[in-house]
Amino acid sequence: GMLPEKKVLGASAKDLTPSYDWFQTDSLITIVIYTKQKDMSAELVIVDCQDKQLRGEIIMGDRSYLVEVDLEHAVQEDLAVHIAEKVGKVEITLKKKDNIHWKMLGQPLESHNTFIKRTDKGPFYRKCKLVSKTEVTHNTKLFCFLLPKSTHLRVPTGQHVYLKQAIAGTEVVKPYTPVLPSLPLDFKEPSCCDGAHIYLMIKIYPCGLFTQALDHLQIGDYVSVSNPEGNFKKSQVQASEDLFLLAAGTGFTPMVKLLNFALTEVSCLRTVKLIFFNKTEEDILWRNQLEQLALKNERFEVQFILSQPTKDWVGKQGKISSLLLSEFVKRSREDSKALICICGPTPFTEQGVQYLKDLGNSQEEIHAFTA
Ligand code: FAD
Ligand code: NAD
Repeated sequence: GMLPEKKVLGASAKDLTPSYDWFQTDSLITIVIYTKQKDMSAELVIVDCQDKQLRGEIIMGDRSYLVEVDLEHAVQEDLAVHIAEKVGKVEITLKKKDNIHWKMLGQPLESHNTFIKRTDKGPFYRKCKLVSKTEVTHNTKLFCFLLPKSTHLRVPTGQHVYLKQAIAGTEVVKPYTPVLPSLPLDFKEPSCCDGAHIYLMIKIYPCGLFTQALDHLQIGDYVSVSNPEGNFKKSQVQASEDLFLLAAGTGFTPMVKLLNFALTEVSCLRTVKLIFFNKTEEDILWRNQLEQLALKNERFEVQFILSQPTKDWVGKQGKISSLLLSEFVKRSREDSKALICICGPTPFTEQGVQYLKDLGNSQEEIHAFTA
């Protein structure tokens, strides 16, 4: 009570910056990060340890707190991350390679112990091993990559990663949106989502620079995968009663985790409707799974629209239009809170957003997935 007001305010602002500490036993090194923020979750913590270089990133809004150290001694390949969610404490546990006493944690690297704007730091990549490649349609495959044992990374719903490969001597980078190995037909998180694998559903273009190179990868080959990016917030779904998903082609990919989240974790949602635009029947991704999901879950509905159907197609045809959207985006109650998510080729997304606005939906009710 005796301190001048300025000093007191200064002290409390400083206290909001995360801090870290470390301790050791004979066999373990534990780094403790105090985020000073409640509701920490596994998706907000990214840890990598490569060649003695430890990098821990804690995402807090538009900033990241970084612990970056060249460790004093070698550690084993696997690491563990424990998060005390309610108190915002993150523990990274490393196994010493040799049971010797460490005098220090290591040498600080450039961004060590900084709390910086996420846009001010470059992307960080780790090499992931291709473990399987399965056909989804005639031109689309599900790639499964294994993260290194020394990586803790969970890609949040609605976010994408960048893949990096050297093609003809040049590094090429493209964004892809992780999916689940399958849709949530039993309404539980699939058991194969152990955090060790990243699944990507990728269309191979006949003249595509990156996708041709991906298609030529052999099982066991490595590709660099970045930290997740994207501005989708799950809280937008949690605040909604009706969820409308508009997808075209591989624009379906962000909808996969979104569907899983909406149907397994958001009980206040009354309806979840997907309208899926494709050229032909053969192009429809996971059609069977989507139809089964619609049969099993009464909150979920799916509609397929083809732009180049054969004569046998009895469903709807055409491209995105105001008329189609006015029929599709019907709220379960006049005043119900809705969220409309849209993803596909850029002209599709741009036209869709414009039609949705013209139909009276507000900007806050629309989320467009873009780069
Ligand atoms: P390029 O060499 O760039 O292009 C060669 C030919 O392929 C073009 O002439 C065209 O015919 C065709 N083509 C290329 N890009 C496009 C395109 N964007 N739209 C239509 N035709 C195209 N793709 C997926 O398959 N799965 C995903 O999960 C996924 N997620 C993405 C997330 C984000 C945020 C963004 C922006 C894009 C995403 N993409 C996704 C698209 C992906 O990043 C590449 O654009 C795509 O794989 C083509 O790369 P390429 O180098 O093979 O083709
Ligand atoms: P595609 O060429 O097979 O087209 C699928 C459907 O999109 C068509 O049937 C049509 O209904 C619609 N469409 C295509 N071009 C259109 C246009 N000019 N105007 C209006 N509607 C149009 O699609 P694809 O090859 O699977 O491409 C999917 C697209 O989604 C890619 O451009 C990819 O970059 C994008 N994508 C973006 C993200 C993201 O931003 N987060 C994620 C995944 C995919």
